[in-house]
Amino acid sequence: MTKPDDSTLNPDDLRAVEERARKLLDRADAWGTLPTPIEDILASAQIQVAPTSLFDPAHILAYVRSKGGDIAHRIKSAISKVFGLYDAGERVIHIDDTVVESKQNFLKLHETGHHEIPTHRKLFRWFQECEKTLAPEIADQFEREANNFARFALFQGGTYARCAADCALEIKTPMKLAKKFGASIYASAREFARTHHRACVVYVLEPIQYVQGNGAQAVVRRIEASPAFLRQFGRPTDTLITPDHLFGPVLPIGRKMTRPVTLSVTDLDGTDHECVAEAFDTKHNVIILLYPVHALTTTTIILPTGFKQRCTD
Ligand SMILES: [Zn+2]
Repeated sequence: MTKPDDSTLNPDDLRAVEERARKLLDRADAWGTLPTPIEDILASAQIQVAPTSLFDPAHILAYVRSKGGDIAHRIKSAISKVFGLYDAGERVIHIDDTVVESKQNFLKLHETGHHEIPTHRKLFRWFQECEKTLAPEIADQFEREANNFARFALFQGGTYARCAADCALEIKTPMKLAKKFGASIYASAREFARTHHRACVVYVLEPIQYVQGNGAQAVVRRIEASPAFLRQFGRPTDTLITPDHLFGPVLPIGRKMTRPVTLSVTDLDGTDHECVAEAFDTKHNVIILLYPVHALTTTTIILPTGFKQRCTD
């Protein structure tokens, strides 16, 4: 099952969260400095990161207990997966420094979100992060608010989209911008598709598996499309990429990247478009980027008809 994207907030909540993040970027004088200077952000928010050597589950549990944490039982239940903790009482963030730097960046900004959004620290003293609280499908309103705060601070509002618009529409761009913004390739590719002014779509796949008799296949984890793509092609609903799927030839099997492959995709009006698809294997996920190049006329022949398939098939 493709994971629903409910990282979104209702427009009023999103505006309020983004306003908080915007003001903090102002205070830290962080606009235009890439990657977002996390140290300046933390200093402006007046929160500290605990020495990383203190981060281990047993220590955190002891720490929470020593502070009279009344939710120690909640933390204990998920202790093995916790990789971030925010203590509103002490204005301290604990981060697991064994996770990759891009994730630490996101975690710090996420925790800063809990700190900067007044209702969060009014209602809770502790926030703990695990895979679940950072996932786009998280249902909890506060976690979604903190994630959107972090996203805004990391990509500096529309700055990412403006940078992407100045670069080529190709998979190397979100990879390059991931470095520039201190984000993971996964987060960068999602932001790329969500905010791009041209029609494009990003598929995030689970790692490729080999199924006896069926060959290589990959489960679709998430699909992000630009507004222009959604208007033209609708929202794709694929759940599995098999060798027979339109993207079958795009799966990077035994290699890191798939060079641009030309495909034909039919839009909502029934017009075929020559599209280009490229893929990159991050080791955790396979990212596919697809974008239309131009509409095909009846005289243009680029592919065997067997390749003709609706994008939503
Ligand atoms: Zn959180």
